[in-house]
Amino acid sequence: MHDLSDIADWLKHHPVHPAARGHGTLPDPVFVAGGEPVVSFSTNNYLALAKHPRLVAAAKDGLERYGVGNCESRLQGGDLELYRTLEARLGALKHKGDAVLFVTGYMANIGVLSSIVKAATLARLHGYRARKRHKYAYYSDEYNHVSIREGIQMSGALRYNYRHGDMNHLESLLKAGADEGSTAIIVSDGVFSMEGTIAPLPQLVALAERYGALLYLDDAHATGVLGANGGGSSEHFGCYSPCIMQMGTLSKALGASGGFVAVEREVADVIRLTSSAYGYTSPPPPAQAAALLAALDLLQEEPQRRQRLWDKQRYFIERMAPLGYTILSTQTPIVPVLMGEAETCQRYAIALRKEGIHVDAVQFPAAPVGQARLRFMMNAGHTRAQLDHVVRVMAQLAGRAARLA
Ligand code: PMP
Repeated sequence: MHDLSDIADWLKHHPVHPAARGHGTLPDPVFVAGGEPVVSFSTNNYLALAKHPRLVAAAKDGLERYGVGNCESRLQGGDLELYRTLEARLGALKHKGDAVLFVTGYMANIGVLSSIVKAATLARLHGYRARKRHKYAYYSDEYNHVSIREGIQMSGALRYNYRHGDMNHLESLLKAGADEGSTAIIVSDGVFSMEGTIAPLPQLVALAERYGALLYLDDAHATGVLGANGGGSSEHFGCYSPCIMQMGTLSKALGASGGFVAVEREVADVIRLTSSAYGYTSPPPPAQAAALLAALDLLQEEPQRRQRLWDKQRYFIERMAPLGYTILSTQTPIVPVLMGEAETCQRYAIALRKEGIHVDAVQFPAAPVGQARLRFMMNAGHTRAQLDHVVRVMAQLAGRAARLA
């Protein structure tokens, strides 16, 4: 149990980032703070769509047409054709028959993972055995997003964590579970956002198929980023097994907010009926759904945005590499630079901020103790001059590292 003195002590060792009090403008990727421009490396607005004129125009049009809020759950009559159109488009992006929209990605994870167990029908519809008083067991990568951990906890199902990315460990747990007769649901992030690495989807699918499991894939950081069409992890690997439930968020590459899970149509209907986070709350505002349709159009029409994002990632890593920092072996536009102790990492973040650069200092519990890191998130809108500036400042700080530590 924490008391207030514990919290004060915790805060002393985890100083709040100087920019955490709210910027005056949206990082796109530059924002203004105290009248000065600051270039952000902490926004998930990967494709620089959040302020794109087509999204803004679509949202304005949505406001005119539908008003500001929906004010009713979709199960209670708050459904709109607009939401159904968006869900069909998201389903198609993920090569699935349908998708279910949630208010955020966080709520999609909580809503689906907490309710799969209620939905024994889901297993039956999916062709798996569903028995009375059937046991379900979740197998979750230890580095999965917190919303996954919370959703699983709420489900009341059996739960096992496997060591990060360790397929042998996962298989040994699945084998033990199969001997007990439970139905398995494997859960993994598609991209691990603190590492920048991509989950080994083909191996996960092979294990899911071998053990008759569902695979719930959180593609929050992959949707719009990985794959030739921005379809995410499945498109990246060309791996489209029917056992995959494809979760994604709309608050990152797609530039708005909201979350979804793409599944086959019958499964989508079961989720709509069984997930409280869908049925007992209002959906995202209609104007947001309208903006998201424009974002999906741009995803298709402008593949060069994704290309620009990857160009920035390569350019930045090539220039950072000679400086002697430990750059974690990323496969995505997330570039983590290892700092070690949380205090060192914080000091770097503060020193960078003084030079007009905003970057997240990621530390425990988001990263293991002693492995704090600066997490540079690349953005299609970054310029080479901005990246050169970061490299210059990081080079200067390397010379003063002993004093910063
Ligand atoms: N999953 C992962 C892996 C995430 O990184 C995030 C956002 N940080 C979420 C889910 C939640 O998404 P949203 O911000 O749309 O709630």
